[in-house]
Amino acid sequence: MFFSRLRFVNQITTRRFLHVSPKLNQGMGIDGNNILAESLKKQGVEYVFGIVGIPVIETSLAFQSVGIKYVGMRNEQAACYAAQAVGYLTGKPGVCLAVSGPGLLHCIGGMANAQVNCWPLLVIAGSCPEDHEGIGGFQEWLQVESSRQYCKYAVRPPSQKLIPLHVERAVRTACAGRPGVAYLDMPATLLMGEVDEEKVSLDYYNAGPLTLAHPDPALVEKAADLLSKAERPLVIVGKGAAYGRAEEALRKLVDDTKIPFLPTPMGKGVVPDESPQCVSAARTQALLKADVVLLLGARLNWMLHFGQSPRYAPDCKIIQVDISPEEFHNSVRSEVAVHSDIKPFVEALTQRLSNKKFSLQRDGAWWQGLKEKQKKNTEFVEAQANDKSVPLNYFAVFKTVQANIPKDSIIVSEGANTMDIGRGLLLNNLPRHRLDAGTFGTMGVGPGFAVAAAMYCRDYEPNKRVICVEGDSAFGFSGMEVETMFRYKLPVIIIIVNNSGIYGGFDKEMLRDMQSAGDVGQCTPPTALSSEVRYEKMMEMFGSSGYLCRTVEDIEKAIKESIKLTDRPSIINILISPQANRKPQTFNWLTESKL
Ligand code: ADP
Ligand code: MG
Repeated sequence: MFFSRLRFVNQITTRRFLHVSPKLNQGMGIDGNNILAESLKKQGVEYVFGIVGIPVIETSLAFQSVGIKYVGMRNEQAACYAAQAVGYLTGKPGVCLAVSGPGLLHCIGGMANAQVNCWPLLVIAGSCPEDHEGIGGFQEWLQVESSRQYCKYAVRPPSQKLIPLHVERAVRTACAGRPGVAYLDMPATLLMGEVDEEKVSLDYYNAGPLTLAHPDPALVEKAADLLSKAERPLVIVGKGAAYGRAEEALRKLVDDTKIPFLPTPMGKGVVPDESPQCVSAARTQALLKADVVLLLGARLNWMLHFGQSPRYAPDCKIIQVDISPEEFHNSVRSEVAVHSDIKPFVEALTQRLSNKKFSLQRDGAWWQGLKEKQKKNTEFVEAQANDKSVPLNYFAVFKTVQANIPKDSIIVSEGANTMDIGRGLLLNNLPRHRLDAGTFGTMGVGPGFAVAAAMYCRDYEPNKRVICVEGDSAFGFSGMEVETMFRYKLPVIIIIVNNSGIYGGFDKEMLRDMQSAGDVGQCTPPTALSSEVRYEKMMEMFGSSGYLCRTVEDIEKAIKESIKLTDRPSIINILISPQANRKPQTFNWLTESKL
């Protein structure tokens, strides 16, 4: 009965949109689309983000028919970003659905981003009918081969009967161990062809959540011993700890031991940014001086300066905890390497340290040094933030934003200076409440992440807001997703920090003078974008209106009004000085290890 209803919907859609003969669906069996939908449902998939076209229109309808939410986006890349953000937020992979050839290829950047971020994601793309392969089929492409290097698992189910098995494996693989990407290739013939319903085991098992990997007690003891003897211990909290839902355990560890901690960008909020133990404001100093670093769910890659001198003391000892043992000793040799999920490790460690009655003195030399540095750096930031002269600087903008947004908002952020400076001033006191360009430094992720976060909030945390803080260049990559937000009634507050360029731009007169000096292609600075673009007017495309801000008061008013809108997005376009800059850095931001 249920399947007949699906077939009916599918036939109507097929006729209406594709003008193909309904013959394909007239058998007594069940087709690939419905097997796929049922299988995903069975594996707990809740959200699909995608763009439909041949051959996946019916696929999307089949998804909706089984109760999966389908969000139609404007670019496959953004859909892929949305699907992976939902995976990070819920712990279950979101699905990105794409058409064949170019559709799947547009997902590749998103797949790489998820894989590099270690987030679970399942990409499903239609592909050309198998009997058109090799003879120039429509949008024919070697899709499994193209996806393989961005995935943990990439396969084309060989028959309709085997779809449930491969869906189960794809979902499980995406989540197991270090999370990542799975790809399922679905030729039109596989999707549309039917098999006898009796012969498909739609009840193909759901393995359920895997048990957590627990640490070797001897290694916990070793870690506790090293930490308790350290003079200058430091905890680094990465997004692996956020993904591993280790917040409660970590808060207890930090509160009990008074060890200072540093969150990585997306590790922010696992322990509150406002915790007295958070030493983000003395980050350089903390890394430089620590004698033992407890590294929890973060890689010693470029973001953490490879764990090497000159950013760390040459004799600094690392206790590395990760779900993926392949990660151990990659850039420096770790003193203790623990293969474990963060949560059980931290619980066991806290217990060991309490047996040792270990707690760091807040008035000891280590804390004193950090506090002094925090004070000095905070004073610099405050001075900038209190300078409200127009055009505004970044610090004044972020201080105003922070003061006016709800404190439990999910903050999405991307851009160069916008993201870097914003990270320090926009606080996260809850885990998984910051989504940004991540390990891969991908620009264009913001609107897709915001769509996913807003869908997630609507279902799980209805009163929570999503604030999407974008540089003007970053916004340009996926700006058309504003239409998606509008269509799905997602009240995302988009704040564009507009300096008219990449890193920085130029004011109108300066840009005009430069462009009139010769050939426009040779004279337009590559970092320039048009000056003072009125991005907020995009809201007028939907009969709404946005906000243009030049002053602190403008920003306050715009945020207050945007918060009142609960059924649509808003755009707050803040014009800042094209030459506004960040705090002078002690080290080049990407300090080479050889320095
Ligand atoms: P960040 O960007 O915050 O520094 P990374 O993405 O570099 O974080 O590192 C995250 C690390 O966390 C990866 O090495 C990954 O294997 C690990 N990880 C992911 N989930 C867990 C978990 N539940 N327990 C332990 N480690 C995890
Ligand atoms: Mg800019």
